[in-house]
Amino acid sequence: PAGHEGLETIAPPDVPLLTGRRVRYANFDYAASAPCSRAAAEAVAEILPRYTAVHRGAGWLSQECTRSYEEARAEVAAFAGCRPGDHVVFTRHTTESLTLLAGALPPGTRVVAFESEHHANLLPWPELIRLPAPDSPAQAVRSVAAALRVLADDDAPVLVAVTGASNVTGELFPVADVVRIAHRHGARVVVDAAQLAPHRRIDLAGWGADYVAFSGHKLYAPFGTGVLAGRADWLDAAPPHLPGGGAGYSVGDITGEVTWRTGPARHEGGSPNVVGAVALAAVCRALRTASWSDLETREEALRSRMAQGLSRIPGVRQLHLFGPDSPRVGTVAFTVDGLPAGLVAAALSAEYGIGVRDGLFCAHPLTRRLVTRSRDFTGPTRHADGSVSHDRQAIRASVGLGSDISDVDRLVAAVGR
Ligand code: PMP
Repeated sequence: PAGHEGLETIAPPDVPLLTGRRVRYANFDYAASAPCSRAAAEAVAEILPRYTAVHRGAGWLSQECTRSYEEARAEVAAFAGCRPGDHVVFTRHTTESLTLLAGALPPGTRVVAFESEHHANLLPWPELIRLPAPDSPAQAVRSVAAALRVLADDDAPVLVAVTGASNVTGELFPVADVVRIAHRHGARVVVDAAQLAPHRRIDLAGWGADYVAFSGHKLYAPFGTGVLAGRADWLDAAPPHLPGGGAGYSVGDITGEVTWRTGPARHEGGSPNVVGAVALAAVCRALRTASWSDLETREEALRSRMAQGLSRIPGVRQLHLFGPDSPRVGTVAFTVDGLPAGLVAAALSAEYGIGVRDGLFCAHPLTRRLVTRSRDFTGPTRHADGSVSHDRQAIRASVGLGSDISDVDRLVAAVGR
Protein backbone atom coordinates (compact mmCIF):
# COMPACT_ATOMS: atom_id res chain seq x y z
CA PRO A 1 0.00 0.00 0.00
CA ALA A 2 1.19 3.50 -0.89
CA GLY A 3 3.01 5.37 1.83
CA HIS A 4 3.75 2.30 3.94
CA GLU A 5 7.51 1.83 3.84
CA GLY A 6 8.56 -1.77 4.16
CA LEU A 7 5.05 -3.23 3.93
CA GLU A 8 5.25 -3.88 0.20
CA THR A 9 4.96 -7.65 -0.29
CA ILE A 10 7.08 -9.76 -2.58
CA ALA A 11 5.19 -10.06 -5.87
CA PRO A 12 3.58 -13.43 -6.61
CA PRO A 13 5.00 -15.50 -9.49
CA ASP A 14 3.26 -16.38 -12.72
CA VAL A 15 1.74 -19.86 -12.48
CA PRO A 16 0.68 -22.34 -15.18
CA LEU A 17 -2.97 -23.05 -15.97
CA LEU A 18 -4.32 -26.35 -17.32
CA THR A 19 -4.08 -24.89 -20.82
CA GLY A 20 -0.37 -24.28 -20.31
CA ARG A 21 -0.83 -20.50 -20.37
CA ARG A 22 0.80 -18.69 -17.43
CA VAL A 23 -0.94 -16.00 -15.39
CA ARG A 24 -0.01 -13.92 -12.38
CA TYR A 25 -0.94 -15.86 -9.25
CA ALA A 26 -3.87 -14.32 -7.38
CA ASN A 27 -3.20 -15.15 -3.76
CA PHE A 28 -6.31 -15.45 -1.59
CA ASP A 29 -4.69 -17.45 1.17
CA TYR A 30 -3.33 -14.71 3.41
CA ALA A 31 -5.16 -16.20 6.39
CA ALA A 32 -2.95 -19.29 6.10
CA SER A 33 0.39 -17.53 5.48
CA ALA A 34 1.10 -14.05 4.15
CA PRO A 35 3.78 -13.32 1.56
CA CYS A 36 7.04 -11.89 2.85
CA SER A 37 7.25 -8.10 3.23
CA ARG A 38 10.14 -5.99 2.01
CA ALA A 39 10.96 -5.07 5.63
CA ALA A 40 11.34 -8.75 6.58
CA ALA A 41 13.24 -9.66 3.41
CA GLU A 42 15.72 -6.83 3.96
CA ALA A 43 16.21 -7.74 7.61
CA VAL A 44 16.96 -11.34 6.63
CA ALA A 45 19.37 -10.26 3.88
CA GLU A 46 21.14 -8.02 6.36
CA ILE A 47 21.65 -10.65 9.06
CA LEU A 48 22.36 -13.74 6.91
CA PRO A 49 26.03 -12.92 6.31
CA ARG A 50 26.74 -12.26 9.98
CA TYR A 51 24.54 -14.47 12.12
CA THR A 52 25.85 -16.73 14.82
CA ALA A 53 24.68 -18.17 18.12
CA VAL A 54 23.12 -15.67 20.50
CA HIS A 55 23.58 -15.58 24.28
CA ARG A 56 26.62 -17.79 23.89
CA GLY A 57 29.85 -16.12 22.93
CA ALA A 58 32.20 -13.31 23.77
CA GLY A 59 33.04 -12.80 20.09
CA TRP A 60 31.98 -9.64 18.36
CA LEU A 61 29.45 -11.34 16.06
CA SER A 62 27.89 -13.21 18.93
CA GLN A 63 27.49 -10.03 20.91
CA GLU A 64 25.99 -8.26 17.89
CA CYS A 65 23.53 -11.09 17.30
CA THR A 66 22.57 -11.17 20.96
CA ARG A 67 21.90 -7.45 20.79
CA SER A 68 19.83 -7.87 17.58
CA TYR A 69 17.83 -10.67 19.19
CA GLU A 70 17.06 -8.69 22.33
CA GLU A 71 16.24 -5.57 20.31
CA ALA A 72 13.84 -7.69 18.28
CA ARG A 73 12.17 -8.79 21.51
CA ALA A 74 11.78 -5.17 22.60
CA GLU A 75 10.28 -4.22 19.23
CA VAL A 76 7.81 -7.10 19.42
CA ALA A 77 6.88 -6.06 22.97
CA ALA A 78 6.08 -2.54 21.76
CA PHE A 79 4.05 -3.94 18.83
CA ALA A 80 2.03 -6.19 21.14
CA GLY A 81 1.36 -3.39 23.61
CA CYS A 82 3.18 -5.12 26.47
CA ARG A 83 3.31 -3.58 29.94
CA PRO A 84 6.53 -3.22 31.90
CA GLY A 85 7.30 -6.61 33.38
CA ASP A 86 5.50 -8.63 30.69
CA HIS A 87 7.54 -11.36 29.03
CA VAL A 88 7.90 -11.85 25.30
CA VAL A 89 8.82 -15.44 24.52
CA PHE A 90 9.86 -16.35 20.98
CA THR A 91 8.32 -19.60 19.76
CA ARG A 92 7.88 -21.20 16.36
CA HIS A 93 4.26 -20.14 15.85
CA THR A 94 0.93 -19.57 17.58
CA THR A 95 0.42 -23.29 18.08
CA GLU A 96 3.62 -23.49 20.09
CA SER A 97 2.83 -20.27 21.98
CA LEU A 98 -0.52 -21.61 23.19
CA THR A 99 0.97 -25.02 23.93
CA LEU A 100 3.68 -23.32 25.98
CA LEU A 101 1.05 -21.45 27.97
CA ALA A 102 -0.91 -24.68 28.46
CA GLY A 103 2.22 -26.14 30.05
CA ALA A 104 2.58 -23.10 32.30
CA LEU A 105 -0.89 -23.18 33.85
CA PRO A 106 -0.89 -23.65 37.61
CA PRO A 107 -2.16 -27.15 38.50
CA GLY A 108 -5.94 -27.46 38.29
CA THR A 109 -6.43 -24.41 36.04
CA ARG A 110 -9.67 -24.60 34.07
CA VAL A 111 -9.68 -23.19 30.57
CA VAL A 112 -12.82 -21.78 28.98
CA ALA A 113 -13.00 -21.49 25.17
CA PHE A 114 -15.63 -21.39 22.45
CA GLU A 115 -15.89 -24.42 20.20
CA SER A 116 -15.45 -21.96 17.31
CA GLU A 117 -11.75 -21.61 18.06
CA HIS A 118 -8.95 -22.78 15.78
CA HIS A 119 -7.65 -26.19 16.93
CA ALA A 120 -4.45 -24.47 18.14
CA ASN A 121 -6.63 -22.78 20.74
CA LEU A 122 -8.65 -25.91 21.64
CA LEU A 123 -6.37 -28.93 21.59
CA PRO A 124 -3.53 -27.83 23.92
CA TRP A 125 -5.75 -27.07 26.92
CA PRO A 126 -5.81 -29.85 29.51
CA GLU A 127 -9.00 -28.99 31.42
CA LEU A 128 -11.13 -27.44 28.72
CA ILE A 129 -14.67 -26.23 29.18
CA ARG A 130 -16.02 -25.81 25.65
CA LEU A 131 -18.71 -23.18 25.19
CA PRO A 132 -21.00 -23.34 22.14
CA ALA A 133 -20.01 -21.04 19.29
CA PRO A 134 -21.66 -17.69 20.04
CA ASP A 135 -24.23 -16.09 17.70
CA SER A 136 -23.22 -12.49 18.42
CA PRO A 137 -20.41 -10.61 20.17
CA ALA A 138 -22.80 -9.75 23.01
CA GLN A 139 -23.72 -13.40 23.41
CA ALA A 140 -20.04 -14.30 23.51
CA VAL A 141 -19.58 -12.05 26.51
CA ARG A 142 -22.74 -13.34 28.22
CA SER A 143 -21.68 -16.91 27.64
CA VAL A 144 -18.23 -16.36 29.17
CA ALA A 145 -19.82 -14.55 32.12
CA ALA A 146 -22.24 -17.45 32.74
CA ALA A 147 -19.42 -20.02 32.63
CA LEU A 148 -17.28 -17.99 35.01
CA ARG A 149 -20.13 -17.59 37.50
CA VAL A 150 -20.40 -21.37 37.71
CA LEU A 151 -16.63 -21.82 38.02
CA ALA A 152 -16.42 -19.16 40.74
CA ASP A 153 -17.66 -21.79 43.21
CA ASP A 154 -14.24 -23.38 43.40
CA ASP A 155 -10.89 -21.70 43.85
CA ALA A 156 -9.05 -23.14 40.86
CA PRO A 157 -7.46 -20.58 38.53
CA VAL A 158 -9.37 -19.95 35.30
CA LEU A 159 -8.08 -18.93 31.88
CA VAL A 160 -10.37 -17.74 29.09
CA ALA A 161 -8.85 -18.49 25.67
CA VAL A 162 -10.42 -16.39 22.92
CA THR A 163 -9.54 -15.55 19.36
CA GLY A 164 -9.22 -11.97 18.18
CA ALA A 165 -10.67 -12.85 14.77
CA SER A 166 -12.13 -16.09 13.46
CA ASN A 167 -9.88 -17.86 10.99
CA VAL A 168 -12.98 -19.12 9.16
CA THR A 169 -15.23 -16.06 8.87
CA GLY A 170 -12.79 -13.29 9.81
CA GLU A 171 -15.29 -11.89 12.30
CA LEU A 172 -13.86 -9.90 15.21
CA PHE A 173 -14.45 -11.11 18.76
CA PRO A 174 -15.11 -8.61 21.58
CA VAL A 175 -11.74 -9.11 23.22
CA ALA A 176 -11.77 -6.11 25.58
CA ASP A 177 -15.29 -6.97 26.82
CA VAL A 178 -14.31 -10.58 27.44
CA VAL A 179 -11.29 -9.35 29.42
CA ARG A 180 -13.47 -7.04 31.53
CA ILE A 181 -15.86 -9.85 32.45
CA ALA A 182 -13.07 -12.34 33.04
CA HIS A 183 -11.16 -10.04 35.34
CA ARG A 184 -14.32 -9.30 37.30
CA HIS A 185 -14.40 -13.03 38.06
CA GLY A 186 -10.68 -13.26 38.76
CA ALA A 187 -9.97 -15.17 35.54
CA ARG A 188 -7.15 -14.50 33.09
CA VAL A 189 -7.46 -14.14 29.32
CA VAL A 190 -5.22 -15.23 26.46
CA VAL A 191 -5.97 -13.75 23.04
CA ASP A 192 -5.16 -15.88 20.00
CA ALA A 193 -4.17 -13.04 17.68
CA ALA A 194 -2.93 -15.22 14.81
CA GLN A 195 -5.63 -13.79 12.53
CA LEU A 196 -6.01 -10.41 14.19
CA ALA A 197 -2.40 -9.19 14.28
CA PRO A 198 -2.01 -8.84 10.48
CA HIS A 199 -5.17 -6.74 10.23
CA ARG A 200 -5.76 -4.71 13.40
CA ARG A 201 -3.53 -3.11 16.01
CA ILE A 202 -3.06 -5.57 18.85
CA ASP A 203 -2.78 -4.12 22.33
CA LEU A 204 -2.23 -6.25 25.39
CA ALA A 205 -2.27 -3.24 27.74
CA GLY A 206 -5.21 -1.55 26.01
CA TRP A 207 -7.33 -4.72 26.16
CA GLY A 208 -6.09 -5.45 29.66
CA ALA A 209 -5.54 -9.04 28.48
CA ASP A 210 -3.05 -11.28 30.23
CA TYR A 211 -1.45 -13.00 27.22
CA VAL A 212 -1.39 -12.73 23.46
CA ALA A 213 -0.09 -15.19 20.88
CA PHE A 214 0.61 -14.72 17.17
CA SER A 215 2.66 -16.09 14.24
CA GLY A 216 5.28 -14.33 12.13
CA HIS A 217 4.36 -16.19 8.94
CA LYS A 218 0.87 -14.65 8.90
CA LEU A 219 2.42 -11.25 9.60
CA TYR A 220 4.55 -10.86 6.45
CA ALA A 221 7.65 -12.46 8.00
CA PRO A 222 9.03 -15.94 7.21
CA PHE A 223 8.10 -19.20 8.93
CA GLY A 224 9.62 -20.30 12.19
CA THR A 225 8.92 -17.41 14.55
CA GLY A 226 5.92 -16.89 16.80
CA VAL A 227 5.30 -15.01 20.00
CA LEU A 228 3.76 -15.55 23.39
CA ALA A 229 3.65 -12.29 25.32
CA GLY A 230 2.13 -11.52 28.69
CA ARG A 231 2.27 -11.76 32.43
CA ALA A 232 5.47 -13.05 33.95
CA ASP A 233 4.36 -14.90 37.10
CA TRP A 234 2.96 -18.15 35.65
CA LEU A 235 5.71 -18.26 33.02
CA ASP A 236 8.48 -17.83 35.60
CA ALA A 237 7.02 -20.54 37.84
CA ALA A 238 6.34 -23.07 35.06
CA PRO A 239 8.42 -26.06 34.01
CA PRO A 240 10.63 -24.95 31.09
CA HIS A 241 8.93 -25.45 27.73
CA LEU A 242 12.20 -26.61 26.10
CA PRO A 243 14.57 -27.80 28.83
CA GLY A 244 18.13 -27.54 27.56
CA GLY A 245 20.91 -25.12 26.80
CA GLY A 246 20.01 -21.58 27.73
CA ALA A 247 17.01 -22.53 29.89
CA GLY A 248 19.05 -23.65 32.90
CA TYR A 249 20.99 -21.18 34.96
CA SER A 250 23.13 -23.82 36.63
CA VAL A 251 23.24 -27.60 36.72
CA GLY A 252 24.90 -29.28 39.71
CA ASP A 253 27.87 -31.66 39.19
CA ILE A 254 26.86 -34.44 41.51
CA THR A 255 23.16 -34.02 42.17
CA GLY A 256 22.33 -32.78 38.68
CA GLU A 257 20.08 -30.31 40.37
CA VAL A 258 19.00 -27.55 37.99
CA THR A 259 18.30 -23.95 38.72
CA TRP A 260 16.15 -22.73 35.86
CA ARG A 261 16.32 -19.21 34.59
CA THR A 262 13.38 -16.89 34.87
CA GLY A 263 12.33 -14.65 32.00
CA PRO A 264 11.87 -15.67 28.38
CA ALA A 265 15.09 -17.75 28.35
CA ARG A 266 13.41 -20.30 30.65
CA HIS A 267 11.20 -21.35 27.74
CA GLU A 268 13.58 -20.77 24.84
CA GLY A 269 16.00 -23.65 25.36
CA GLY A 270 18.21 -24.43 22.36
CA SER A 271 19.87 -22.01 19.98
CA PRO A 272 17.44 -19.21 19.26
CA ASN A 273 16.22 -18.33 15.77
CA VAL A 274 17.78 -14.91 15.55
CA VAL A 275 17.08 -14.60 11.81
CA GLY A 276 13.38 -15.17 12.36
CA ALA A 277 13.19 -12.83 15.34
CA VAL A 278 14.91 -10.02 13.47
CA ALA A 279 12.63 -10.50 10.44
CA LEU A 280 9.48 -10.46 12.57
CA ALA A 281 10.68 -7.39 14.45
CA ALA A 282 11.26 -5.54 11.18
CA VAL A 283 7.61 -6.07 10.23
CA CYS A 284 6.46 -5.07 13.72
CA ARG A 285 8.46 -1.85 13.38
CA ALA A 286 6.93 -1.07 9.98
CA LEU A 287 3.42 -1.83 11.22
CA ARG A 288 3.90 0.14 14.42
CA THR A 289 4.55 3.30 12.45
CA ALA A 290 1.95 2.56 9.74
CA SER A 291 -1.42 4.25 9.57
CA TRP A 292 -3.70 1.47 10.71
CA SER A 293 -6.77 3.42 9.69
CA ASP A 294 -5.43 3.59 6.11
CA LEU A 295 -4.63 -0.10 6.10
CA GLU A 296 -8.03 -1.01 7.51
CA THR A 297 -9.90 1.21 5.04
CA ARG A 298 -8.00 -0.29 2.13
CA GLU A 299 -8.57 -3.85 3.31
CA GLU A 300 -12.25 -3.27 4.03
CA ALA A 301 -12.74 -1.92 0.50
CA LEU A 302 -11.29 -5.17 -0.88
CA ARG A 303 -13.25 -7.38 1.49
CA SER A 304 -16.59 -5.71 0.92
CA ARG A 305 -16.10 -5.76 -2.87
CA MET A 306 -15.35 -9.49 -2.62
CA ALA A 307 -18.34 -10.16 -0.32
CA GLN A 308 -20.74 -8.12 -2.46
CA GLY A 309 -19.46 -9.65 -5.69
CA LEU A 310 -19.86 -13.17 -4.35
CA SER A 311 -23.29 -12.39 -2.92
CA ARG A 312 -24.59 -11.63 -6.42
CA ILE A 313 -23.71 -15.13 -7.69
CA PRO A 314 -26.62 -17.59 -7.39
CA GLY A 315 -25.78 -20.61 -5.25
CA VAL A 316 -22.88 -18.99 -3.40
CA ARG A 317 -23.48 -18.92 0.34
CA GLN A 318 -21.21 -16.96 2.62
CA LEU A 319 -20.60 -18.22 6.13
CA HIS A 320 -21.13 -16.01 9.16
CA LEU A 321 -20.98 -16.62 12.84
CA PHE A 322 -22.44 -13.28 13.94
CA GLY A 323 -23.98 -12.04 10.67
CA PRO A 324 -22.98 -10.42 7.39
CA ASP A 325 -22.62 -6.94 8.90
CA SER A 326 -20.42 -7.90 11.80
CA PRO A 327 -16.97 -6.27 11.55
CA ARG A 328 -14.30 -8.60 10.27
CA VAL A 329 -10.83 -8.83 8.78
CA GLY A 330 -10.32 -9.51 5.07
CA THR A 331 -11.65 -13.06 5.02
CA VAL A 332 -14.72 -14.51 3.29
CA ALA A 333 -15.74 -18.16 3.62
CA PHE A 334 -18.36 -19.60 1.29
CA THR A 335 -19.84 -22.68 -0.29
CA VAL A 336 -21.22 -23.22 -3.79
CA ASP A 337 -24.45 -25.17 -4.06
CA GLY A 338 -23.99 -28.47 -5.81
CA LEU A 339 -20.19 -28.33 -5.93
CA PRO A 340 -17.76 -29.79 -3.40
CA ALA A 341 -15.47 -27.13 -1.94
CA GLY A 342 -12.36 -29.03 -3.02
CA LEU A 343 -13.50 -29.08 -6.64
CA VAL A 344 -14.21 -25.35 -6.65
CA ALA A 345 -10.77 -24.63 -5.16
CA ALA A 346 -9.06 -26.96 -7.66
CA ALA A 347 -10.85 -25.33 -10.59
CA LEU A 348 -9.98 -21.83 -9.38
CA SER A 349 -6.35 -22.88 -9.31
CA ALA A 350 -6.13 -24.91 -12.53
CA GLU A 351 -8.32 -22.74 -14.73
CA TYR A 352 -7.76 -19.26 -13.30
CA GLY A 353 -4.50 -19.20 -11.33
CA ILE A 354 -6.34 -18.26 -8.15
CA GLY A 355 -5.21 -19.69 -4.80
CA VAL A 356 -7.92 -20.14 -2.15
CA ARG A 357 -8.13 -22.53 0.77
CA ASP A 358 -10.73 -25.29 1.04
CA GLY A 359 -11.63 -27.70 3.77
CA LEU A 360 -12.45 -27.26 7.44
CA PHE A 361 -9.64 -24.78 8.22
CA CYS A 362 -8.39 -26.46 11.42
CA ALA A 363 -11.65 -25.32 13.01
CA HIS A 364 -13.71 -28.45 12.36
CA PRO A 365 -16.60 -27.90 14.78
CA LEU A 366 -17.14 -24.32 13.61
CA THR A 367 -16.88 -24.93 9.86
CA ARG A 368 -19.18 -27.96 9.90
CA ARG A 369 -21.71 -26.04 11.96
CA LEU A 370 -21.68 -22.98 9.68
CA VAL A 371 -21.88 -25.02 6.47
CA THR A 372 -24.74 -27.09 7.86
CA ARG A 373 -26.57 -23.94 8.90
CA SER A 374 -26.09 -22.28 5.52
CA ARG A 375 -27.40 -25.38 3.74
CA ASP A 376 -30.56 -25.71 5.80
CA PHE A 377 -32.52 -24.52 2.80
CA THR A 378 -31.03 -26.81 0.18
CA GLY A 379 -29.95 -29.98 1.92
CA PRO A 380 -26.95 -31.98 0.74
CA THR A 381 -24.87 -31.45 -2.40
CA ARG A 382 -26.28 -33.18 -5.52
CA HIS A 383 -23.58 -33.99 -8.05
CA ALA A 384 -23.88 -34.07 -11.84
CA ASP A 385 -23.67 -37.88 -11.88
CA GLY A 386 -26.69 -38.11 -9.59
CA SER A 387 -24.76 -38.93 -6.43
CA VAL A 388 -25.40 -37.03 -3.24
CA SER A 389 -22.84 -36.03 -0.65
CA HIS A 390 -22.88 -34.30 2.65
CA ASP A 391 -19.81 -32.23 1.98
CA ARG A 392 -19.49 -29.87 4.90
CA GLN A 393 -16.34 -28.18 3.77
CA ALA A 394 -16.03 -24.62 2.60
CA ILE A 395 -13.87 -22.30 0.53
CA ARG A 396 -11.99 -19.45 2.15
CA ALA A 397 -10.69 -16.38 0.33
CA SER A 398 -8.58 -14.00 2.36
CA VAL A 399 -6.79 -10.81 1.37
CA GLY A 400 -3.91 -8.79 2.77
CA LEU A 401 -1.36 -6.10 2.02
CA GLY A 402 -0.39 -7.45 -1.42
CA SER A 403 -3.98 -7.91 -2.66
CA ASP A 404 -5.61 -5.46 -5.03
CA ILE A 405 -8.94 -4.81 -6.70
CA SER A 406 -7.99 -6.63 -9.88
CA ASP A 407 -7.38 -9.81 -7.82
CA VAL A 408 -10.79 -9.49 -6.21
CA ASP A 409 -12.51 -8.95 -9.55
CA ARG A 410 -10.72 -11.98 -10.99
CA LEU A 411 -11.93 -14.14 -8.09
CA VAL A 412 -15.53 -12.97 -8.32
CA ALA A 413 -15.59 -13.45 -12.10
CA ALA A 414 -14.03 -16.92 -11.83
CA VAL A 415 -16.46 -18.11 -9.15
CA GLY A 416 -19.33 -16.76 -11.27
CA ARG A 417 -18.18 -18.72 -14.29
N1 PMP B 1 -5.05 -19.56 15.63
C1 PMP B 1 -5.66 -19.09 14.55
C2 PMP B 1 -6.88 -18.25 14.71
C3 PMP B 1 -5.16 -19.40 13.28
O1 PMP B 1 -5.77 -18.96 12.21
C4 PMP B 1 -4.00 -20.19 13.19
C5 PMP B 1 -3.40 -20.57 11.84
N2 PMP B 1 -4.29 -20.96 10.88
C6 PMP B 1 -3.40 -20.63 14.36
C7 PMP B 1 -3.93 -20.29 15.56
C8 PMP B 1 -2.16 -21.48 14.33
O2 PMP B 1 -1.12 -20.76 13.78
P1 PMP B 1 0.24 -21.53 13.41
O3 PMP B 1 -0.14 -22.51 12.36
O4 PMP B 1 1.10 -20.43 12.87
O5 PMP B 1 0.73 -22.14 14.64
